[in-house]
Amino acid sequence: MSKKLKITSIDIYKSDIELKEPFKIAIMEISASQSVFIKINTNEGLYGFGEANPFWGITGETQAINLAGAAELAKLLLHKNPLNIEKMMREIDGFLVHNSTLRSAFDMALYDLLGKTAELPLYALLGGEKRTFWTDNTIGIGDPDYVAQKAVQYKNQGFQAIKVKLGTTNEMDIKRIRKVREAIGDDLPIRVDANQGWNYKTAVEVLNALEPMGVEYCEQPIAYWDYENLRRIRQNTSIAIMADESLFDHYDAFKLASMGCCDYFNIKLAKSGGIHTALKINAIAEGAGIICMVGCMMETRLGLTAAAHIVSARFNIKFADLDGYLMLKEDPIIGGAQYNIGKIDLPDTPGHGADVDPAFLKRCECITIK
Ligand code: MG
Repeated sequence: MSKKLKITSIDIYKSDIELKEPFKIAIMEISASQSVFIKINTNEGLYGFGEANPFWGITGETQAINLAGAAELAKLLLHKNPLNIEKMMREIDGFLVHNSTLRSAFDMALYDLLGKTAELPLYALLGGEKRTFWTDNTIGIGDPDYVAQKAVQYKNQGFQAIKVKLGTTNEMDIKRIRKVREAIGDDLPIRVDANQGWNYKTAVEVLNALEPMGVEYCEQPIAYWDYENLRRIRQNTSIAIMADESLFDHYDAFKLASMGCCDYFNIKLAKSGGIHTALKINAIAEGAGIICMVGCMMETRLGLTAAAHIVSARFNIKFADLDGYLMLKEDPIIGGAQYNIGKIDLPDTPGHGADVDPAFLKRCECITIK
């Protein structure tokens, strides 16, 4: 059927969902999940859904920027065949450089359409199998006693790994992890993320102090651009180093791998510009002996479902940090990945399998490009 599939219109929705509590990391603080949903409609009635959840301090995008950019990208795609993703993404990536979060929403909607056309769930479309897996749960920057209390709460709920945001002062960061380890005992791995908050010296000092505390890995200790010092930090600690903000696309992946900067990659669709490039990053990682995690911003279950399919489809992706939705006050998604505490189960419906509740969409501002 679908050789003649054509994009007839694209709906752009502004979605605002409050968080259960404000979420603070070293470089920014948010109190709401502000997404842009992209719905690509076709002449055959099939549609694809994608989500952009911009973190301005990381990608330089805001919801307003994404809304404006989405209208421009939508015009570019009208009347074209959505199934030729290689060509579509070349046009999208070439037309609007940077803006990786917005580009990922279009990519996600295109893969949703491809899966629906092929009548395959996304993990199968990518040649993978369905794997059930766990996400960790993240605690934002806070007072060490509060962080420790949250860690106990997550442990008691059944989470298998706790991620703690750091990147403040040496003294407070070390105190946070010491308190968390004392509070939860030795069973669970602790993952830490400094979100660029340290410099080379601070990073080495804090990581050396954390070495006996059972830290599984440290994400992005220093500024995203400082590859040379990231490599030096890795040489001076036994804690594994994971690149996050330093890693957007496959070009970054190649440089980080070539320079020996890190042990792990944190792939996020919001940074890679979507699934198409995420798979390239994972392939480079696999060739370099680097293990991947798939992480998130503060997406709803729609964006997280797309990310979960990638985890399921690739053996080299061994960690998942897909907890954004757990922090939202509202879940407007129908279908999609189901969360049992932190255990994630994917749907078998074609495409990514997540839809946005029409009642929720009615409350969202919408523009249609046709
Ligand atoms: Mg991170």
